[in-house]
Amino acid sequence: MVEQERMDKFYQFMRVIMERINAHFENQKEYIHCKEGCSFCCEKGEYPCSELEFEFLKIGFMTLDRETQQKIVDETIRLKEEKAKFTGKMFMHKCPFLIDHKCSVYPYRMIICRTFGLSYYDKDEYTQKNTLKVPFCIEQGLNYSEVYDQENKTFSTELFKKTGYKQEPLTYNLGVEFLVKEFGQKIMKLDFGEFKRLLDWL
Ligand code: SF4
Ligand code: SF4
Repeated sequence: MVEQERMDKFYQFMRVIMERINAHFENQKEYIHCKEGCSFCCEKGEYPCSELEFEFLKIGFMTLDRETQQKIVDETIRLKEEKAKFTGKMFMHKCPFLIDHKCSVYPYRMIICRTFGLSYYDKDEYTQKNTLKVPFCIEQGLNYSEVYDQENKTFSTELFKKTGYKQEPLTYNLGVEFLVKEFGQKIMKLDFGEFKRLLDWL
């Protein structure tokens, strides 16, 4: 059980980052094609999650009706069985909280889920250079796909001009690593607790 003082600080952290994330979604809206029922971003991942985020998810789970809770429990059991037989490196799976293409715990979702769909700059883990990160759905003709130069892996001013959009994509650093480490841990001195893959918390 996480102490209330830490959870309160976490809520404060979430309020601040959501202001920035929402503002960024708003100013990037020409490029954002997210809509209800589009759930590719919740269908294939490992979903890194801290102790505090998991505590928050649990609160969300408790707000659900019994039938929905049971669906999540059944899917979790199925995924764990599948994972036990898996021999590869990364077990990428659908999130068990995704029901009928909708997040069942949307107000309580993890930090990573809140940044799905945005592009941003972040340090590349191998080169340590600031690198453009784009949502994977760019390859499915979704977010930012109109202005992305697949060959050079960058946004193209030429493609932007063809769209008639008002502004080229803005790319602040809103990666989970940055939000958690640089803002949460260093500036807010927030202790997120252990980080694990979602399935390992369940
Ligand atoms: S918690 Fe919700 S938003 Fe996050 S991956 Fe799962 S279904 Fe998607
Ligand atoms: S981030 Fe991409 S896959 Fe996810 S809801 Fe938005 S458009 Fe769909």
